[in-house]
Amino acid sequence: MEHQTNTIVQRSLDALSETSSFLPDLQGKERERAFTSLAAILSTPNKVHKSYLRLPLEKGKVIRVPALRVQHNDALGPYKGGIRFHETVNEEEVINLAFLMTLKNALHNIPFGGGKGGIVINPREYSPRELNHISRKYVQYFADVIGPNKDIPAPDAGSSEREMDWMMAEYKSIKPGEAYLGSFTGKSVDNGGSLGRREATGKGVYFVFRYMFHDFLKSHFSWLKECNSIFAKTALDNHNQSYRIAVQGFGNVGSITALEAYSCDHLENKIISVSDQHVALVNEDGLDIPKLMKFTTANQGDLPTSQAQLKEIGVNATIEDRDHLLFLDVDVLMLAALEDQIRVDNMEKIKAPIIVEGANAPITADADQFFSDNGAIVFPDILANAGGVIVSYLEWLQGRETKFYSEEAVFTSLYDKMKKTMDTILPQFFGDPFPLRQNCYIHSVKKLSTILYKQGKLY
Ligand code: GLU
Repeated sequence: MEHQTNTIVQRSLDALSETSSFLPDLQGKERERAFTSLAAILSTPNKVHKSYLRLPLEKGKVIRVPALRVQHNDALGPYKGGIRFHETVNEEEVINLAFLMTLKNALHNIPFGGGKGGIVINPREYSPRELNHISRKYVQYFADVIGPNKDIPAPDAGSSEREMDWMMAEYKSIKPGEAYLGSFTGKSVDNGGSLGRREATGKGVYFVFRYMFHDFLKSHFSWLKECNSIFAKTALDNHNQSYRIAVQGFGNVGSITALEAYSCDHLENKIISVSDQHVALVNEDGLDIPKLMKFTTANQGDLPTSQAQLKEIGVNATIEDRDHLLFLDVDVLMLAALEDQIRVDNMEKIKAPIIVEGANAPITADADQFFSDNGAIVFPDILANAGGVIVSYLEWLQGRETKFYSEEAVFTSLYDKMKKTMDTILPQFFGDPFPLRQNCYIHSVKKLSTILYKQGKLY
């Protein structure tokens, strides 16, 4: 994600300055000054906290694990964002991801700012005992800068409700008397987590696609025909009753996204391919997603890698190289693995006219430009994968009220929130020449600029 933040800031500001929507009451020099302050605020995180977690391993060795918490911006509320457990985590990446959280929360009107954490380890190489120790150490090192009204972490790639439970427990013992239920979200339901939080990101990823290509297209059909944009044409050309879909990544996000697409009662989809870090499975007639999920649950999250395993679970598929999935001739490509999956070196091989970003930043800026020049519709991360943080917000509220909602109420609120955002963004998007990502950025940055200006910070 090299220099992606600056590119994103620049592109969002460029788009915003071309519209008349940036602080419309300001004129001339005053407007210019406010604009420069805004650019400076967005392109620099408020704080970067760094530490080494020193801890003994079971075999007697002592390791030093680099760990980070980046607090990008808190204009809208406490910093909020996950903690990534991954061996490639680095400062620049975490800053970029924290910035995306600021934009994501602003876009969906969630009263949180943007933050992100990272621990540089491959969690697969450590025992649960060691991971417990690492999670607790993280909280010991950062306890003074996080908290229910300051900065609320959550799971991200490589972490889950198990780590959040450990972390919350540590926070509770270090800071007695604090409203500890709100200190972490994405906890298990037993520990004060929200029903539906685990499925929320994957469900949201599929929801945004379904909403545009089913509900919105149906109700705006003749209006879209009048729109002159290449994106309106792509939407109309690809308006079907059934979609051929490929989903990259079969973890917490990808598997649920695939299951939602598979079991959608509005559209007769076929999931042609799914992949994980080892393989891609392909079946032109559609894969049986529930059977694959059963297998991954019993096999540490891994998809079957041999015909013998596929036969055992009664799934018909060919086994391919994991990147094979990206280049299949499908209608929709859903990217739910990690960042930088589609770049200049492979973008021209992508055939799907519709791409949904379930992961954060899976498409580099140059590749993104290429797709919009060609009229592909890309649902950006901040729009598509916000289900997790939306339900995190509901979890935080439930923790404050110590009153818990039913799963149905959680999903209803989740879809309402995403629908509201889509209803604001889509008419604008189809009516102008900017891609969907730009429209989302403009919306978020506009909101942030109004608030920062009213707080007297743009001078
Ligand atoms: N890690 C998730 C994201 O990138 C969820 C963050 C949260 O719930 O705070 O959106």
